[in-house]
Amino acid sequence: MRLEKQQITAGFIKQKTIEKGAALCGIAPIERFINAPHGFHPTDILPQCRSVIVFASPFPISTLSCNTNSPYTFVRNKMVEKTDQISFLLAVELEQEGILAVPIPCAEPYDYWDESRNHGRGILSLKHSAHLAGLGNLGKNTLLVNRTYGNMIWLGAVLVSAELEGDSIDMETLCPSGCTLCLDKCPQHALDGKTIDQKLCREKSISCTPGGGWVLSCNICRKICPANRVIKQNL
Ligand code: SF4
Ligand code: SF4
Repeated sequence: MRLEKQQITAGFIKQKTIEKGAALCGIAPIERFINAPHGFHPTDILPQCRSVIVFASPFPISTLSCNTNSPYTFVRNKMVEKTDQISFLLAVELEQEGILAVPIPCAEPYDYWDESRNHGRGILSLKHSAHLAGLGNLGKNTLLVNRTYGNMIWLGAVLVSAELEGDSIDMETLCPSGCTLCLDKCPQHALDGKTIDQKLCREKSISCTPGGGWVLSCNICRKICPANRVIKQNL
């Protein structure tokens, strides 16, 4: 049954998102993006955007215990597939309900690339969008930290033309007082507590295997973070 536009509520959209396999879903009204960089505002992508739906799925933490990088890389690639599938299906369904709905690719391609700094940027910051949608706050490792899943989540988003009720923003820092583990243990000194030097990070975190493939070869700042303790306790 097709809903009238005014019947499309935040609750309806969250239900549809969770049904497609996400674990978390929040909504950020467009007014919250006032500090988005020029060219990377949701309305730079979809001028009619009124709300940003952000969702997250758990990233299996067991892969952080492996002595090889292949399982972590495999899981990362599967998370990209799963997340893009959820945002794609959600956008198709919402469009059929009569609103504009645009899925945001959760990884590549980069629209912006600075060759000199090896610095890339997607069309929308999913981490900042997730914060504005109430899913958590950014840690000093620049990853989004969620109260239930720590940093072990993968984020996706859909822009919509419907005005939806927003979720409360979590303003509290989720880094324990005085913690600088990720800064101290990063082998590249790529973190300063607020930003990441992508060039330094990429030199260590992406490697080619002798067989010609590529793997994610560093995840120390993700692995070492005590914000993941809640899920670790359950294993
Ligand atoms: S390791 Fe510590 S400082 Fe770094 S993100 Fe995690 S909690 Fe925050
Ligand atoms: S992935 Fe590794 S190199 Fe990159 S910031 Fe994290 S700890 Fe540093």
